[in-house]
Amino acid sequence: MFNTIFSKGNFMKFTLFVGLLLVTNSCYDDESLNVPVRDTNVELTPLDQYIDENFTQKYNMAIRYRFVDRFVDPDERATPPRVEVVRPMLDFIEEFWIAPYLEIENGEEFFVDHVPVEIVFLGGFIYNEDGTVTLGTADAGARITFTNVNAIDPEDTDWRNLQLQTVYHEFAHTVHQRYKLPTAFETISPTGYTSAGSWFNLPEEEALQRGFVSPYASSSPNEDFAETVAFYLFDTNFIDNVLTDEADCDTPECVSRNEGRERIRQKVNAISEHYEKVTGVNLLKLREAVQSKL
Ligand SMILES: [Zn+2]
Repeated sequence: MFNTIFSKGNFMKFTLFVGLLLVTNSCYDDESLNVPVRDTNVELTPLDQYIDENFTQKYNMAIRYRFVDRFVDPDERATPPRVEVVRPMLDFIEEFWIAPYLEIENGEEFFVDHVPVEIVFLGGFIYNEDGTVTLGTADAGARITFTNVNAIDPEDTDWRNLQLQTVYHEFAHTVHQRYKLPTAFETISPTGYTSAGSWFNLPEEEALQRGFVSPYASSSPNEDFAETVAFYLFDTNFIDNVLTDEADCDTPECVSRNEGRERIRQKVNAISEHYEKVTGVNLLKLREAVQSKL
């Protein structure tokens, strides 16, 4: 079952569930996020001290790996990670998420200034009442939840992509929340956005033809922005498969795909200029820093 979920043929399912959760969770201002950064009534273990020194004091970021039920909705079920995977997961986020920012110009300032106050590690996925399974979540830029931490394997492309898509997608939301979308961003795919709640019926092929990096990106301009940033950063094949036109294009479908690619190129350009202007971060440099880890 685990392998089925993560097999390449089911990548769609992966994005679909990630997106589903984002739909239900990402658009609320959650008052409960205003919580103290440190758990005060828990005896500190060496692991907690490591977290305190390397994450909480350094970035004002709390890492939650106990009592995870507090961090999912009442109708969802989740389990905490095994304690022995917590440190490897911390190393993973340092290497694949934090380090790329530290390596580029203005990246450290950007990271420190935009980092979410809470990171939650869940052992498995989130099991919802309706029988669906949620693979990754993010809320309002203030908390990022990593699921399936018990299966940690940074060499496993599917596992790694799930974590990187989640974290880079959510982190991108902080940019438009604070500085708005690039001017006229929503006009690049003028008729492409799906009506609310129907994006998951959009096949990947049609999403590309409309100028979206994924079906979920078609759900709104904000999600389009976050998905485009995330795929641009973590997807190794993005430049070859998405930004570069197919050659010898002689079917209507292929022509449409290339028209979609032109729209995605316009979006990536608009987003890159916006990042540069409002944060000083060069997205191509960031992509290169991320890709050098993969
Ligand atoms: Zn989102």
